[in-house]
Amino acid sequence: MIYNVALIPGDGIGPEIIKCAVAVLNKIGEKYSHEFVFQEVDAGGVAIDKYNDPLPKESIDACLNNDSVLLGAVGGPKWDHLDVEIRPEKGLLKLRSGLNLFTNLRPAVLHNSLKESCVLKSEIGDKGIDIMVIRELTGGIYFGERGRELTTLGESAWDTERYSYEEIKRIAKVAFETAMKRRKKLVSVDKANVLESSRLWREVVIEVSSRYPEVALEHMYVDNAAMQLIKDPSQFDVIVTSNMFGDILSDEASQITGSIGMLPSASLGKSNIGLYEPIHGSAPDIADKDLANPIATILSAAMMLKYSFGLEDESNEIEKDVTAVLDEGFRTPDIFTNGTKKVGTKEMGNLICSKII
Ligand code: NAD
Repeated sequence: MIYNVALIPGDGIGPEIIKCAVAVLNKIGEKYSHEFVFQEVDAGGVAIDKYNDPLPKESIDACLNNDSVLLGAVGGPKWDHLDVEIRPEKGLLKLRSGLNLFTNLRPAVLHNSLKESCVLKSEIGDKGIDIMVIRELTGGIYFGERGRELTTLGESAWDTERYSYEEIKRIAKVAFETAMKRRKKLVSVDKANVLESSRLWREVVIEVSSRYPEVALEHMYVDNAAMQLIKDPSQFDVIVTSNMFGDILSDEASQITGSIGMLPSASLGKSNIGLYEPIHGSAPDIADKDLANPIATILSAAMMLKYSFGLEDESNEIEKDVTAVLDEGFRTPDIFTNGTKKVGTKEMGNLICSKII
């Protein structure tokens, strides 16, 4: 079977970590008789340099013409002075909306052998952390009406949180379906004690829950959820929440699992075309130094196999191989602790590839 993948290496460490993910995909392809055909696509700073546009039309068309998109990272100080409309990050937002990706899946998993890197090691004990944060990605306050006006009290500004029944229903369904494939526990996070949009959110989630009687549903206010993630993260299985709450809570969840270099993400819409990328940025401070951790990108590729191509065994194998290499004590500098073996980006990629036989 042939799978076509649009590849966006991007800027900073992007090209280095994407190379490792491609090597892993090719090795998995060899083992399971799949062919991955990659089309390199320009986006971010490199696209600004070439076309003065962070996401030219040809790039979005190329993504739409492939089965899926794998991205390294975009951005860097070279483009920081540019107007917000043509900065690299704008390309990413255009890509997400161009592909109509309304679901953002961010697993936050603490690998057993990385317990020492967890800031909450004494609280975690043997319970571990394995959370899937599901963030609504195309609605809410980031896309609502906003503006400024001059009043007698000086300048004022506003942003609007708005959610429709359909927007909530479709993300709730994704959350329940995901919970069904995991430990069947779903926490819906809102601020229904204050916000009308949250009250509708809660009503719709309850309505959808009637179709998933096996899933234990709990509602939690966002302030409490932020606290519980620190106090007892192992209580969570799947979390579903709005765009802004998800933005904040998923970063919090990722930080309690060790390094940002470990965590993948998937953004999905109605079609099978997904956007898979590590949660970190382009790390310009360590670019081209063979210091970057490629695991978040390799695990993003594993998510692509599972969610876009339905290749569950292949995806699980990559996750298992990453765990095996960590269990053997190999670490990139971001996760290095005394007594472990320090390796660079390329070697970490090669070690993971060497497990696929
Ligand atoms: P960053 O995630 O790039 O880096 C934060 C810190 O984490 C740095 O110290 C970096 O060295 C480290 N780090 C990140 N990824 C790592 C990895 N794989 N291995 C080891 N260490 C890693 O965030 P930042 O410094 O705030 O942003 C740098 C640039 O990336 C900015 O231009 C920003 O806009 C952009 N950015 C892009 C994305 C994206 O492409 N999705 C996301 C966030 C930030």
